Amino acid sequence: MMAWDMLKPAPALPFKMEGNGNGKSIIVLGAGLAGMTAAYELSRLGYRCTILEARERSGGRCWSVRNGSVNTETDHGKHTAGFDGDLYFNAGPSRIPHNHELTLHYCKELGVPLQVYNNVNEAAWYFSEGTGSLSNKKIRVREIHNDMRGYTMELLSKAIDPAKLDTGLTAEDNQKLLEYLRAEGGLDIDKLYKVSSRRGYAEMPGAGDRSGKIADAHKLTDIIRSGLLDPDFYNVAEYTFELQMTMLQATGGMDQIAKALERKVGKQILFNSEVTSIRNLTEGVEVSYKDARGEKKLTGDLCICTIPLPVLSNIDHNFGSDASRAIDFISYNNTGKIGLQFKRRFWEEDEHIYGGITHTNNELTQIFYPSNDYLGGKGVLIGYYNFNEKAKATGELSYTEREKLALQKGSLIHPQYPKEFEQSFSVSWHKTKYSMGGWAVYNNQERQTYYKALLQPDKQVYFAGEHMTHLNAWMAGAFESARKTVADIHARVTGQRVAYPGEG
Ligand SMILES: Cc1cc2nc3c(=O)[nH]c(=O)nc-3n(C[C@H](O)[C@H](O)[C@H](O)COP(=O)(O)OP(=O)(O)OC[C@H]3O[C@@H](n4cnc5c(N)ncnc54)[C@H](O)[C@@H]3O)c2cc1C
Repeated sequence: MMAWDMLKPAPALPFKMEGNGNGKSIIVLGAGLAGMTAAYELSRLGYRCTILEARERSGGRCWSVRNGSVNTETDHGKHTAGFDGDLYFNAGPSRIPHNHELTLHYCKELGVPLQVYNNVNEAAWYFSEGTGSLSNKKIRVREIHNDMRGYTMELLSKAIDPAKLDTGLTAEDNQKLLEYLRAEGGLDIDKLYKVSSRRGYAEMPGAGDRSGKIADAHKLTDIIRSGLLDPDFYNVAEYTFELQMTMLQATGGMDQIAKALERKVGKQILFNSEVTSIRNLTEGVEVSYKDARGEKKLTGDLCICTIPLPVLSNIDHNFGSDASRAIDFISYNNTGKIGLQFKRRFWEEDEHIYGGITHTNNELTQIFYPSNDYLGGKGVLIGYYNFNEKAKATGELSYTEREKLALQKGSLIHPQYPKEFEQSFSVSWHKTKYSMGGWAVYNNQERQTYYKALLQPDKQVYFAGEHMTHLNAWMAGAFESARKTVADIHARVTGQRVAYPGEG
């Protein structure tokens, strides 16, 4: 779509607008990426911003868990991480698409170093629980990928008969297509799938007479009947526009992006300040919040609310009925992750896995291997990253039970777990105070109704954040939304509506 100019990437441009806010006061609710970016840009345009943040830290969902990190879940209480030294895992965002130019722009502008995040790894595993002959065994991704390429290309090459198919192909076109199918599938001259080193070795080649041994292909029926063509496996990352390589991550943890923004606007943030009420006044807005010393009130000219909607839904306000309904009805997904610290990086040392993802159809859904500090000492991998019903069920478990589940199911794939495991930390985002969900999920109808209702300010209050974009579940959503909201506010204050950089 980008090639056809139908989808414009966010611009990697600094945010420059004419005019000045002349000290108008803006109350920003939430010091996540959206709130801090809005305050950063507004301050540069001459506005006075105060950010109210309920947590003791900035970043919101952009959070890396390290030694001393604390989380509070509604049913399970406070939980503190005890990872060794500099070890961490990204409990929220872990990867930046190469096409999210605005996220990359802010990393560059704020001086956040990036490194490659290896999202696609043919050496990782597929593990399908079930009753097929390939079930309950770990199988390298590359074996299934290459066998399926071989079988499907073989079927296609047999099916292509220009006399019978209305393809409009000439004999020459047809020959070229066949050659492509042969190359793509690894077919022999008889158009039959022939195993090769593409799918890996049963015995690696080496010196002397060790020429290496290639194992036989898995049978197509075994692959199908073992569930390895089910969505848990074919719905793979690299087919998604945003998840195609190259992907990136902030060196040292994704929270470095939040920390860099905090360095710019930190003086304007009031931490441990939980918003309890938002009221439009005839002119201006009044926000009540509580901190360690009790209830307080703040008034401002305008307000930007980036509080996630499931949290906002329980906060007192006097918004109109459209906004109020939208806040109550837009749903967020269930999602959770667990970080597991191991004594050694056995997935690298024993299994040749450097970054990437193992997929399984059990509760774990995915295991993420770290894309940094390769061949170092200890390591933290993400023992599950799950969604929806699986995340809901996992979230019901206590922290100890989640660890038990991750270890028990993970040991089926990595038998090294029991010997090498040291400690864990899990986050269930839909149970996490001040988030209460992973990200907003819309159907088409909700996009036309609830979403649109919140795109307009409710008098002096603007709604911003990941949920106010079509980039749900992405940091780019927070950045895009912040820029749009700043442009809207600046237009209201200066009386001039100018397109914000990136706007069509
Ligand atoms: C599991 C997971 C994986 C993700 N993976 C990726 C990824 O790989 N790549 C990517 O780009 N994005 C990813 N994302 C999405 C990304 O994290 C979000 O889109 C982005 O961080 C949202 O920023 P925000 O500012 O809109 O919201 P938030 O970060 O939620 O900020 C809202 C702020 O409001 C504060 N707040 C809440 N209630 C109150 C209150 N009552 N008073 C005061 N303050 C309050 C919160 O503490 C928080 O700081 C992921 C998210 C999750 C949860």
